Amino acid sequence: MVETVAEGRVRPRGRSVITWLRRLESATRPVDPQTREAMSRRWAELPDHVRTPAQTLGRIAVGCEGTHGVFPRCNLACTPCYHSRDANRVAVNGAHTRREVAAQFAMLRERRGPRAHAQLIGGEVSLLPPEDHAAALQIMRDHGREPMSMTHGDIDYAYLEQLATGPDGRRRFRRLSFAGHFDMLMFGRRGIERPPDEASLNPYRKRFADMFATLRRDHGVHSFLAHNMTVTPANVDQVAQVIRDCHGYGFGMFSFQPAAFVGDDHRWHETYRDLTGDIVWEQIEAGVGTRLPYRALQVGDERCNRTAYGFYVGERWFPLLDDTDPADLRVRDAYLRHLGGLNFAGRSVPLLTAKLVRVAATHPSLLVLAAGWTARRARRAGLRSLLRHRIRPVAFTMHSFMDAADVAPAWAAMQRGQECTEPRLRATQERLRACFYTMAHPETGELVPACVQHAVLDPVENAQLRRLLPLTPRRSA
Ligand code: SF4
Repeated sequence: MVETVAEGRVRPRGRSVITWLRRLESATRPVDPQTREAMSRRWAELPDHVRTPAQTLGRIAVGCEGTHGVFPRCNLACTPCYHSRDANRVAVNGAHTRREVAAQFAMLRERRGPRAHAQLIGGEVSLLPPEDHAAALQIMRDHGREPMSMTHGDIDYAYLEQLATGPDGRRRFRRLSFAGHFDMLMFGRRGIERPPDEASLNPYRKRFADMFATLRRDHGVHSFLAHNMTVTPANVDQVAQVIRDCHGYGFGMFSFQPAAFVGDDHRWHETYRDLTGDIVWEQIEAGVGTRLPYRALQVGDERCNRTAYGFYVGERWFPLLDDTDPADLRVRDAYLRHLGGLNFAGRSVPLLTAKLVRVAATHPSLLVLAAGWTARRARRAGLRSLLRHRIRPVAFTMHSFMDAADVAPAWAAMQRGQECTEPRLRATQERLRACFYTMAHPETGELVPACVQHAVLDPVENAQLRRLLPLTPRRSA
């Protein structure tokens, strides 16, 4: 009950109702004002050539983030490997990981706004004891990040269980995101030290995905899984079959990384430059069995990233947006204008619904667009198939890192405020400016593209870490 005691004054209960309504209004705002501000800043920084109607940076999100120097070591060997040579000479140290993750994400939160997707990445994440791994994820969440742990996938269910549930056996995460990296260029996996081909890794891919299904069954922990794969001339002709064989395993994303000359040059064994993005993408399309319309939504620069979002119904894949269909492009434009910045990850269904209802109430024409889009998707997929099969969202993406030999001089020139004129270096600078994958350096206040981290900064950083965290601790005198 609200009682007025004098003009302009209300009793505490009245104030609490007003406070509650204010909180409700704030919580159901479609886009957080700080997120909107951070996205506007990102959009303003983007070079002109990527400010296209399809661009998502600065309109849906600020981009992805990743850690560096927090656990550089890995216990598998890859050819190629983008880690610098010293990475494997740095001891894993949970206290160091927690400290660095906290510092890097405090900076990312301050400079890039309250929400982003972020990768807990470095060497092999499962070399961290589960408690330190869980603490790092929690730090990232506390900074508004939706974390994804990057692993080679050679892990045991017991590790996952300890990560998800904690020492008291109680669930500590309702949802985990993992990317498992599987390809025949990785050596030392238990049970298959030197994979003869990609197909021989399928049981390991399946086992990895199955562990998360078990985790959900045993502890109610949901998961999002990505499948990562490096592509070189040695395995490019097997990409299509990997997709055909594994699309139903439970991965929500298949990500392919054409190899670049970056990291440890002892592990460069092939002529990666024979491989173009078009060749790899053709193989991905062959595996999916249809054209992948990656121009509907662009993430940064097309030379760095292609992504096609869609879903399987049975064995057939359908795009969420067809980049040749004007009606779909109108949906895309309306989404970017009115829903860009709305964060779906980690939100409860009632809260998301409330946000969407507010948007629809202000822009009722969106409902007409949404109805048309749904009808088109249903027509394409076929009602009978939709009734027979579950819809499985699966995205396909290709991320093409750049060679260290290009990134180093291009970045050095950018630091001096110089534009490169040599075409290859000019293209490198354009891509670095449109980068969607950022790493933070609290010690210098710099935010850098991951290409710069791996090509320029990692070697120095890991040499320092090697002294700070030696594999064999020095004896005190
Ligand atoms: S990390 Fe490199 S390849 Fe990836 S988006 Fe950034 S600049 Fe492009």
